[in-house]
Amino acid sequence: LFAGPCEFIFASAKSSDLPPLGPPEIAFAGRSNVGKSSLLNALTNRKTLARVSHTPGRTQQLNFFALGGQPGAERLRLVDMPGYGYAAVGKEKVASWGVLMHDYLRGRASLARAFVLIDGRRGVKPVDEEMFDLLDQSAVSYQIVLTKHDELKVSERAGVAAATLAALAKRPAAYPEIIFTSSQTGEGIPALRAAIAQLLAE
Ligand code: GDP
Repeated sequence: LFAGPCEFIFASAKSSDLPPLGPPEIAFAGRSNVGKSSLLNALTNRKTLARVSHTPGRTQQLNFFALGGQPGAERLRLVDMPGYGYAAVGKEKVASWGVLMHDYLRGRASLARAFVLIDGRRGVKPVDEEMFDLLDQSAVSYQIVLTKHDELKVSERAGVAAATLAALAKRPAAYPEIIFTSSQTGEGIPALRAAIAQLLAE
């Protein structure tokens, strides 16, 4: 699944402009700077993916990528969601992303899971809780990926994991297992791939 190409297929700036339903979709969400681009690059073994998503104008869109086959014959789609919680963005833009994300999450029958990235050094913030709320309300299964694990001391890791799990308690759509990753060391990338492959098998 991850050995072949991962090609850009579509960018959506508004919910009336989503690609037709196809194979299962896996979405990636997180605060700006959480390490989403680095993780997507590590996951897919290529740099093109995040470069596309970082193209000015595309950062506020949903970017769709084909995995496990050429576009049109892919087995899976990765959906890079706009980074949220960036203070310098105006209220109007925040509102329009909100509508796009809400509409996508609410209505996408092929969406198998959302991975919500949390910066391991910072933990769950109120904006992340808002994303959890949206996912719970949309009944979209979601799983937490704690990024930048290399920056945590071994002695800090258990505490961060416990605090994150505590934030997920009583959240109906949250998957109660966290994946710890580092795009720098490659830690956790096989576990993330395995989780995605498992979703395809279900
Ligand atoms: P995005 O805004 O979520 O796409 O985040 P980026 O992937 O662009 O990363 C934001 C910053 O975090 C950059 O300075 C990266 O070098 C850094 N970063 C990303 N992943 C890791 C990681 O696994 N470990 C460490 N130490 N830094 C990381």
